[in-house]
Amino acid sequence: MSAAVQHDGFDVERVRADFPILSELVHGKNLVFLDSAASAQKPRAVIDAMVRTMQTRYANVHRGLHWMSERCSDDYEDARDKVAAFLNAAREEIVFVRNATEGVNLVAQTYGRSALKAGDAVVISEMEHHANLVPWQMLRDQHGIELRIAKITDAGELDFNDLQQIFADGRVRLLAITHMSNVLGTYTPVDRLARFAHDHDAKILLDGAQAVVHRAVDVRAIDADFYVFSGHKLYGPSGVGVLYGKRDLLDAMPPFMGGGDMISSVSFEKSTWAAPPYRFEAGTPAIVEVIGLGAAIDYVSAIGFDAIAAHERSLTDHAMAVLATIDGLHTLGRAQDRGGVVAFTLDGVHAHDVATLLDKQGIAVRAGHHCAEPLTRRLGLDSTARASFGIYTTHGEIDALAAGLRRVQQVFGR
Ligand code: PMP
Repeated sequence: MSAAVQHDGFDVERVRADFPILSELVHGKNLVFLDSAASAQKPRAVIDAMVRTMQTRYANVHRGLHWMSERCSDDYEDARDKVAAFLNAAREEIVFVRNATEGVNLVAQTYGRSALKAGDAVVISEMEHHANLVPWQMLRDQHGIELRIAKITDAGELDFNDLQQIFADGRVRLLAITHMSNVLGTYTPVDRLARFAHDHDAKILLDGAQAVVHRAVDVRAIDADFYVFSGHKLYGPSGVGVLYGKRDLLDAMPPFMGGGDMISSVSFEKSTWAAPPYRFEAGTPAIVEVIGLGAAIDYVSAIGFDAIAAHERSLTDHAMAVLATIDGLHTLGRAQDRGGVVAFTLDGVHAHDVATLLDKQGIAVRAGHHCAEPLTRRLGLDSTARASFGIYTTHGEIDALAAGLRRVQQVFGR
């Protein structure tokens, strides 16, 4: 057994060979890419699918009666089938958007404006990414809903006692919450939350931007009403994301944007809307990117989420153990159920300096508030560094991070 597979039985070197960028040098050093939670690298299968589309099967979709358009439309719609199977949804329930952010905005501006009325409450949590916070503030200011914030515990888990109180007056109509925190790594108990929301006559939207990369998601089993994610974190291209919505909800929602492809008929007096999902896909979509996302789903599905989740659990355990040996390093989040995202602070060194000095060693981590400014403040901080793992991350890279952090401490004389 090679060193690469000895840790958890996952042949990470085979996976790495699929990602051309991982053999690039950065500042003359081997790239150690620990920023997959911001955006993941792309396997050759995704790159090839996109290039093949542009070289051999490209035209606008749903418009032409010619061979190229029909082939390209087939490929585009095949990708929708792949996403539907991936989430265990029906194809009509899969709307292609630009990213998770657009998915949340779409729900806020269509479901929010049509199904919610002034005085209804929407609940988010203290650990939301701005993508699942700002759209609800906008809806609050435009439409008069109330926005309530569910507390987290110091361990970084949802506080169910607080949630009970927040729902107690019966005015909450939507719980919009992350499936996995991009800062704390916390997985939220989505089955329980969906039951809880439904028991209180509320719908649930899950922000799956992080979770969908690391574990299998079955929207029917969860009983999610809406689920959003981005292609670029799932080893697919940027520029495409997914909104899943239960069919009856999408059917009742007005369009988000008007234009070509989302209509049934148009006259100067009046237009009528196409059925979902097309009602929500105005204009020429991200054709090549959607096809690339389909290839990404094929890629991760072939590896399988049992293997992916086991590998990432092993990486996370290793990271927590190794980082615990560094004096003055504090990791954030102690949730029971957590994934491969480890944010930390280093005494006496600003997170931006940590990231800059690691970069000089070829190690890419993120620093800042990670688009979760209120959470960072809730933790009493202004910024943190964050290492995040993907299917191609090795245990050796985590050791390299630890060694790199010790060098950072030396530079700062700590
Ligand atoms: N939610 C979470 C939990 C995220 O981590 C991110 C990306 N950092 C987003 C939403 C937004 O994703 P995007 O920028 O692709 O829309």
